Formats: sequence, structure tokens, C-alpha cells
Amino acid sequence: MSDFQTLMKEIETKYQQKWEETRLFESEVDQNKEKFYLIWAYPGVSGYLHIGHIRGYSYLDMIARYKRMRGYNVLFPVGVHASGLPTVGFSLKVKNKEESTINYLLENNCPPELIPRLADPLVAVEYFSKKYISSWKRYGYTCDERYFINTITPEYQKFIQWQFKKLQDLNLLITKPHYAPWCPVDGPIAVDPSETDISEGGDAEQLEFIIVKFKADWIEDKTFFVTGTLRPETVYGVTNIWLNPNETYSLVQMDDEKWIVSQTCANCMKLGDQRKIIDTFEGDAFIGKSVTNIASNLEIPILPGEFVEVDIATGVVMSVPAHAPFDWIALEDIQKSDTKIGKVARNIKPISIIDSPLGKLSAQETCKKYEIQSQQEVEKLKLATEEVYRIEFHKGTISVEEFSGRNISDAKEEITDKLMERGIFASYRIQEFSKKVICRCGNKVSIRMIPEQWFIRYSDKKLKRSTRTYSKSMVFHPIQYKTSFNGIIDWYEDRACARQGKWLGTPLPQDKNWIIEPISDSTLYPIFYIVARYVNSGEITTEELTEEFFDYIFLGEGNPDTISKNLKIDIEKLLEIKRAVDYWYPLDLNLGGKEHQTVHFPVFVMNHIAILKPTFWPKEIFVNYWVVQKDVANIAQVTKLSKSKGGAKPIQDYIVDGIRLYFAHSKSAHLDVEWNTHTMEIYNKHLNKIYDLIVRIYEKLDDKNIGSEYSELDLFLQSKIYRTIQDITKMFDESLNFRKISQEIYYTIYRTLIHYLNRNGNNADLLREVIVKWISLMTPFTPYLAEEFWSMMGLGGFVSNSEWPIVDENQISDVVEEKEEYLLDVIADINKILKMMDIKKINTIEIVITSKWKEFILNAYRSSPENLISEIMKENQIREHSKLASQYAKKLLKNKENIPYSFDRTTEFDIIQDARNYIETVTNTTVKVVFFEETESPKRNQAEPFRPAIYVY
Ligand SMILES: [Zn+2]
Repeated sequence: MSDFQTLMKEIETKYQQKWEETRLFESEVDQNKEKFYLIWAYPGVSGYLHIGHIRGYSYLDMIARYKRMRGYNVLFPVGVHASGLPTVGFSLKVKNKEESTINYLLENNCPPELIPRLADPLVAVEYFSKKYISSWKRYGYTCDERYFINTITPEYQKFIQWQFKKLQDLNLLITKPHYAPWCPVDGPIAVDPSETDISEGGDAEQLEFIIVKFKADWIEDKTFFVTGTLRPETVYGVTNIWLNPNETYSLVQMDDEKWIVSQTCANCMKLGDQRKIIDTFEGDAFIGKSVTNIASNLEIPILPGEFVEVDIATGVVMSVPAHAPFDWIALEDIQKSDTKIGKVARNIKPISIIDSPLGKLSAQETCKKYEIQSQQEVEKLKLATEEVYRIEFHKGTISVEEFSGRNISDAKEEITDKLMERGIFASYRIQEFSKKVICRCGNKVSIRMIPEQWFIRYSDKKLKRSTRTYSKSMVFHPIQYKTSFNGIIDWYEDRACARQGKWLGTPLPQDKNWIIEPISDSTLYPIFYIVARYVNSGEITTEELTEEFFDYIFLGEGNPDTISKNLKIDIEKLLEIKRAVDYWYPLDLNLGGKEHQTVHFPVFVMNHIAILKPTFWPKEIFVNYWVVQKDVANIAQVTKLSKSKGGAKPIQDYIVDGIRLYFAHSKSAHLDVEWNTHTMEIYNKHLNKIYDLIVRIYEKLDDKNIGSEYSELDLFLQSKIYRTIQDITKMFDESLNFRKISQEIYYTIYRTLIHYLNRNGNNADLLREVIVKWISLMTPFTPYLAEEFWSMMGLGGFVSNSEWPIVDENQISDVVEEKEEYLLDVIADINKILKMMDIKKINTIEIVITSKWKEFILNAYRSSPENLISEIMKENQIREHSKLASQYAKKLLKNKENIPYSFDRTTEFDIIQDARNYIETVTNTTVKVVFFEETESPKRNQAEPFRPAIYVY
């Protein structure tokens, strides 16, 4: 551990204790103060917090601390989202004594005797809740744990049950058949980008196959071969059926019909009394028979296709050789055969039903184009297929009489509905994932049909409309999310909101066999934090949390006297809770990771709009991106840092302020940032330099020039600090651009102070004033250092609840700042040159101030850039230098140069001349300053206004 690290550990411990003892961050209703209520998306519970969590949390705390210093009464509660699968999965690993899990616990200092008990998910939730709270405190977060919620407590369940009754009253809770992602161990789970339940495949698409029935009454009445297709509109062009002759097929009783599907498919269908397997056959048995395509009323043969995969859809495939390259090539192959089947196949002609830029027989044309000869050329066939599907979908028109001339994209749904009505398509559909999905327990996830699944009806048109309208008035970070949010609401579908299985969570009040799933029990919860505080303190009991209680405090319905009598709850207490809800709500800001853009945030907003009054609707959303790491196996890949992907390291040893500055400064909050301990060390070192600088200034404050007149240099420093405060405050209020804000605080102010001291600035009053303001500005980012400095300066109390510095606009002056800024630029240029040279060989630095004629060109450009070159060439003094002059003029025009300063070249000369001693000291050379006209220096032609030439020798 470095000295600085040891020092910081001491400082961290000291202020954690002091903040705790003085209960500095506890929030109470104060009607005289404006409130600001903010939360982060509470974490799931499946292990310790890691550096990936710390990123978003730190941003929220920066906002909370800033608002507090701006005089807001800030409410910043915390909780854990223990519902669902994560904790159950974690405890199972402990129960199975998985080595990596046990090691992970030990690495994080879990007491060995406690480990076996963590096999119980409830114990694990309790253990980790405590750990999270202590990590949050350690990271300096100003949260108030008295409002803590845990989503599996009885009080939270009462709240969620109330919410679901409201959804039902609003007709937003329904049941319907559902195709649910299904784990053989855990039952139904959620597959979405948040990957709450799964370890792989969060971006898998759920493909929906429409079931097409082909009549086979030669077997029995109402018997069908059923195929699954993604292109139901092509049913009119089916010329034959493909069956794998080497696989087993089942005859399934499907209500009052009989279906033939692959045995694999039959086993996946949710069967019951009305649906059962009644016979099995080898595929071979059906080859050469025929079925009726009901849509086209044609008899079509069943042909052998060894390429048919029985675990995709029904394992029975309809063949559309006019519009499906695979079918066309397979048919061509079989037509070459000498067998009886070959003869049957030779009678088949493709039936064109779509006209598109690819022609009427798109499959044939595309196969020609890709030079596909056989079924073995799978990659080429895939490309051809993709092309045909895409072009026909977007540009194809159908040539079947009933829908003649219609675009496929526009008629597809109507065709599906009509053919379903006519019984050609089944109402049953098959859904499969487009890629592999793996549950957290390690099993492969498939899709199962659940006949009566509970849904929240987010497709409700009125709800969508209100949400879109309201979201226009909301603030989103990043701003682009505002636009995409609208689109997300547009396509947001009903969400399956409850499951049957071994889950932690709230039983659905309408049917207690169902447990509400985690995304659905975490939408309205910010309002419950306010109530949780009274339950946590024992002021109210879980029994008192009845529907009429919630109706009153959240919706203002009912009579408080009656409710207080019914519940035997003190009327004053009831009114107090209601006042607290009315005071703190709505939520001002909700922060969550980027995966929640399509998962949590839309339902969070929609539930508020559906259930609560408009004045309780949320105001601002902040999306933070991920902390990523190089993939151990493939360093060109980066992956999200997460425990389930094996990336999380213990966080206890890091310097808190260093980490917070790392996240504030290294990247925009809305870009992924790569985790790198080397970068972290750079920030630690920089904080160490700031510490040393402040100590150095502090120690000399007494000998300085107190009460003196302000020099130009003093006025510069004063103007600069006020301008910085002004800029930072604006950024905090408008953009929350932490990267730029922290750049100003930790780098610009730092460099300015160093410059001031190097220029022999020594105004003690001013230095004290500047340092105090600087400490205040640091507080949201590096609160521990800020407290330490605050105390060092003898300021009393805590900087954490001091006032944010106020801007004195009268002290801000462009004129005062620009001269010193100019000098800083020149010194930066000198340093760049010196860096490239051997310093020992340098005696003299000649600084050449621009020529009179270049200054003339600049002034001409300033008054009017129109016809600049022809105008200036009217001057004799310019024509003398015509080549260089037009070069400079072109440069001005090309760069549309924003001229940084307003003074002339004489002032340039004076500034450098005045600072000559200073430059000589910092560079250890002799400095000469001359005008262009006074030197023969080989570099003199490089001198331009505000960019003197620098010649060293
Ligand atoms: Zn599972």
C-alpha cells in the first residue's frame, strides 16, 4: 500500500464514522425546502457488489451531493431486488459446494462458518443486503438506509399485491396463451437484455412459426400433416411436403384433430387430456403418399428430405420451390433420381405466387446468381435465402387472386388471419429462439406454451399514447434515449408478469400459485420507499398496509378518519405518511444501466402513468453504460463486467475517491468504459498531487500578502475560478456531463493554481477563497478528500452539507483572463518544443511576435472575411509579402478561425516581456522577446497573431 493509499484509508474511515455519528444524510420532510428525490435501480442479489455496480451508483451520488449543496432536501433511499431467480441460483451453487462459488465467498472475506447457511436464499439475501449497505457507505454514498426495502418482505408483498389489484381494476391484467422461455429446472424465466435470469443469449429473438395444416384423410378423418413456417403467405405456392425418412414421427391427438409432427416436436408440445401421442411411425412410411394443400386445393406428394431437422418447428416442412432456394435445389436433386420418387418429383413445377425485382421464380434466379449446384452448398444457400426473403418481403407483390397486387409486408398479417379463420392455419403456434439461450442454472432454455399466462397489458393503446405524450416533457440522459424511448413504447408488447416455479417474490393476488416476476415487481417501487421507512421504524405494521391504506396515501382516496378507525392506526401517523408521500413524490431522477432502456425504464414509466395521478409521474431518467473488460479468452473482445461472467473482483482495497474520479472523468457516462487498474492508479496519483498542492498552499497561507491590492494576476485567478464555477453549475443543471465537469475541477483549476503560484502569486486572502471554493466543487466527486481539506482549512461542520459556491459575475472578466490565458498558451508551446530537444544545449529562447502585415490581415478578416484576399492585396505592405500573406489569409478562411483574444501585438509583446523572468525561471534559459521586423531568426515567418514563433538556440 502506498503512503497515499494508507492516508486515504484513514480519511475514509474517519469521515464514514463522522457522517454516521452525525446522521448527516438522513432525510426528513421539510416543507420550507424544495425536495429532490432520486434512486438507482436497486441491485439483484447474487453476490457481492463489483466495480461495474459502482459506476452507476457513483453518478447518482454525484447528483445527490450536488443537489444537497444547492440547497435541495434530498431523498436517496436504497434497497435490494431479491425477487426472481438470481439468489435462488446463487444459493443452489453454495448448496452444491461449487468450488468457484466457495472461493469467491472466501476471497471476499465471507466468514467460513457462514458459508453453508448461504445455501438458504433467504439467509443469502439478508447477508448480502448488509454487505451492500456497508459497501455503499464505504463508497461515500449519501443514502439514507432507514428507507431500505427488500422485495421479498411481507410489507413489500402487500404493496405489490395492491399494485396488481389496481392493474386489474384498470383492465391491464389479463391471461392468454403464452409461449414462455422455459428452463427444465426452474420453469419459466425471462429472456431479455438485462439477463437477470440467464447467463447467455439475452439478445436471442423469439421466432414464431405459423402452423399450416395439410389434409391427409386417407389416414383418418380430420388428420393433418402440420408444418411450421415463418412465411405463411407462401402457402399458395407449396408443391410438396418434405419428411425425413430416417426419423420418427408421431400421430398426436390435438383436441378434435389428429396431427402428424416429429416425435421431438410432439414431446415439446404441452399435452394434456385432450392432447396426447396416439401412435408413432418412421418417416419412411409416408414417402410417396399425398396430402391436400387446402389453400390451393391441390393434391401434393410427400417427398423424402434427409436435410429436414426434426427439432426445428414440427419437423415437417412445406416446399415452395418458386420462392425458397433450399426447396428448389432439393427438388432439382430428387428429380435426377431414377426411382419412382424421382418420377413423381419430375412432375412438379414450381408455382410462382410472388412477383419481385428477383423475378417470378426468385429461388431459381438466385440459385443461378450464386452458382449453387447442390444441397451441400449450405452457406451460399443461406445467403440466397436471406436475399429472397428480404427482397420479397419489402418489394414483393402477391399474385394470388384474392390478395392480388398487395405488398407482402403489408398483406402478410391479413393473409395469416384469413387462413386461420378458414382453418388452414392452426391457432396454435410454435416459438423457438434464434440462438442458444442458457439459464443461470446451466440448462438450455426452450420455449413452451402456457395456456393461461398472466400478462400486464402494455399494448393498451391509451396507455401507450399517454406515455408517449408525457415522455416529451421528461428529461433523458443521454438525450438520444428520448427519441428511442418513443419507439420502444411503440413496439412494447404485453409482458408475462408472473410464473409458476421456485421463485422468490410476491404471490399474484388473483391466483396465489403464481409468483410475480422481477421486472414486473419493480416498476412503482420508488413510492414505497417512503412508506418502508415507517415500517422499518415500527411506526406502522405490515397488517396495517391494507388496500384502503394504500388507496388513501398514494391515490388520496377514502376518508382518513374512517381508515384510521378501521385499521386502528393513529390518525396523526396516517396523515404524516400521506404528507410524506405528497412531499417526496414524484421521483425526480431514476438511474439504471443501459440494459434497462428496453426493460425497466419503459415499464417504470408506464406503471406510474397507469396507476398514479399526473403530478406523481417521474421526471428524469439517467442511463449509465457498462464497465467492460477484455475477454480473458479473446482479448479483441470486450464483455460486460459481471459476476456471472467471472469478471468481478473484490472492491474493498481501492481508494474510493480515485474510483469515483475514474468513473467521472475517464469516459462519458453514456459509453462503455474498460476497467483498467493502471488507469485507476493514474487518477490516484493525480489526487495525490492535488493533496500535496493544497497542503503546500495551506502551510504558506499565513506568510502571504494579506489584504493587499489585487494584482492583474490575482484578478485573473479570481475571474477564472468564478467562471469555472459558473460553467460547472450550468453543466450540472443541464447536461450532467461529468467528464467535462471533472475536467474543469481536477485539471483546469489545478493547472491554473500551479500557474498562479509559479508566477509568484501570493495573495493569501484570494488563495484561501479559491481553495475553499475548489474544495466545495470537489465534494460531489471526491467527498473524502474534500472533507479532509475542509477540516484542514478549519471551516467547521462538513463540506458535504455546506453550500455550493455562488458565482459573483462581477468578478468574471474576459479582458483580465485573456492575457494570462495567452501566456499559458505560449508557455505550453515552449514546453512542447523543449520536450523534443536536449535541454542542456539550450541557452536562449527567442520569442518572435507577429509582423505588422499579418496583424493587418487578421484585422481585415475580423471586419469582413468577404473578398479577403483581393482586399488585402490592395495594400503595398501586403503585396511585398504576397505569397506568405495569401497563405495566412487562406488559413484564416479555411479554419474559419475563432480568434481567441482581442488585444493587439503590442500587448502580446508586453505580456511576454512582463513574464520574462517567470519564463526564464521555469525553463532555466535566457528569454528574448522581439517583433518580427527586428529579427533575422529563421523561424520568424511562423509567427502569427497570438501564436509567436519560438526559436531556441
Ligand atoms: Zn434454470
